[in-house]
Amino acid sequence: MEKYIVVAVGGNAFQTKNERGSPESYWEHARRSADFLVRIVEDGYRVAITHGNGPQVGIIAEWMLAGKSAKGLPVMTLDIAGAMSQGWLGYLLQQTIYNKLIEKGLLGKSVKGVITVITQTVVDRGDPAFMNPTKFIGPWYSEEEAKKLAKEHGWVVKPDPRGGWRRVVPSPNPTRQIEIDAIKKLLSEGYIVIASGGGGIPVYVDEEGKLRGVEAVIDKDLAGERLASAIGAEIFMILTDIDKVYLNYGTPRQKAIDVMTVSEAKKYYEEGHFKPGSMGPKVLAAIRFVEDGGKEAIIAHLFQAYEALRGKAGTRIVPG
Ligand code: ADP
Ligand code: MG
Repeated sequence: MEKYIVVAVGGNAFQTKNERGSPESYWEHARRSADFLVRIVEDGYRVAITHGNGPQVGIIAEWMLAGKSAKGLPVMTLDIAGAMSQGWLGYLLQQTIYNKLIEKGLLGKSVKGVITVITQTVVDRGDPAFMNPTKFIGPWYSEEEAKKLAKEHGWVVKPDPRGGWRRVVPSPNPTRQIEIDAIKKLLSEGYIVIASGGGGIPVYVDEEGKLRGVEAVIDKDLAGERLASAIGAEIFMILTDIDKVYLNYGTPRQKAIDVMTVSEAKKYYEEGHFKPGSMGPKVLAAIRFVEDGGKEAIIAHLFQAYEALRGKAGTRIVPG
């Protein structure tokens, strides 16, 4: 029996916070991430990888706005920017993982190849998130500039609690990935698949059953859970920039969690231990995965992926 695993990598797989991000540094980060990801393959798992895209969509937005003011180039919509980010980051992983497989002599043996699937994630058009956009994206502006851009592009802008004004978009709940059957097929044939990047391109299904892109940002961990459950993965692993999930995080009483049951996780979640937009969706995704029949979810540091898979690092969320 083949064992399937879905691994979600965070922003630190490509760029560290406050880093400008040259192509060289993107390659360097991707190479290092590939190193950790290939170890999971060596362990005999069939692997699907998903990744975030927040910083990259912000960068694409800046490029487009600069192109507009310098040359009058049209600004693309957010779903198209999401597709660009899937190609950008997918390519980095696709090549660095390929090269790592060559280095280890695994290509053509246990692994057939590495492929990125441009993925569309379906959201519900009636999702209350559309009435209340909460996700800040892209550059910071003055109030005046923000309101001007909002009028021009039909954006919603709000003051960012950290200062300045920014665009806000809805963050609806992911329901399923359109390309799921192709993803499953590729995995079963022995490919490493990179999919649902940035949570997937948000689309809804219209009255005729056709797909339409929407301007929204889907959480990559919640979308990763949909992917993991749909392919029947044994393990859903969320790799980030912190070693474990903590209670009372950032206070003198903070306490690392090695393992928690779903009911414990729910209790801590309701008590407000996990911040919205960072650890909150990770724990929620872990809870959903196990409730949907997954064996266990793991939240760990990217550099400890291998140890975490053996229960020697990270936080495990288990049934119960
Ligand atoms: P990623 O790009 O991997 O999704 P995030 O920044 O979204 O990373 O989430 C990881 C961050 O979550 C950690 O760096 C940490 O600062 C923050 N965090 C918030 N609450 C907690 C908690 N209870 N335990 C651990 N980390 C937490
Ligand atoms: Mg995040």
